[in-house]
Amino acid sequence: MKLLIIGPQGSGKGTQAEILSEKLRIPHISTGDIFRSLQGPLKKKVDEIINKGNLVPDELTLEILKNRLEKEDCKKGFILDGFPRNLNQARLLKKITKIDKVIEITLDDKTAIKRITGRRLCKKCKINYNIFTEPKPKNPEICDECGGKLVRRKDDTENAVKKRLEIYKKETLPVLKEYDNILTINGNQSIKEMTEEIINNLELKTD
Ligand SMILES: [Zn+2]
Repeated sequence: MKLLIIGPQGSGKGTQAEILSEKLRIPHISTGDIFRSLQGPLKKKVDEIINKGNLVPDELTLEILKNRLEKEDCKKGFILDGFPRNLNQARLLKKITKIDKVIEITLDDKTAIKRITGRRLCKKCKINYNIFTEPKPKNPEICDECGGKLVRRKDDTENAVKKRLEIYKKETLPVLKEYDNILTINGNQSIKEMTEEIINNLELKTD
């Protein structure tokens, strides 16, 4: 089954993609991970673009993605995460593969902002926490594991999150118009509830 997962930051789409990947035994394909795992001349090319602070052009991303989707482990399907981010990418994607189901995770801005601004990272051992959700540290400023100081990433401020949510609405949400096979899931549930809802609905379709 070829799945595409779409949702705003804070919706937990990456977590769901990981869980679904394990449950359905299909690879979780994230363009971020693909970029990081590149080798050779292509790696050099992409690194140069990213290091200059530019976005990798859609056509190049598509070419890299196409190579990945042609690998043996994608024969039974995959779950695509982080692509397409805009209409142009969605139209390009159609040229290389057909998506069976789009999983859209919805989340109100207020909850998304709370979840993102609540993220903390231990400076010392790099464990992730969230002072509002799970995994919650016993003390909001100190790591449970090593006693290190918990810090917030620079781009996890309320203004930065609001900006990213705006871009998501303006550029990514219109992607859904390109699909008529969308499963909409409320992101304001627990991770487990969301997974159950997704699995139940996917099974209905395959029965
Ligand atoms: Zn720590």
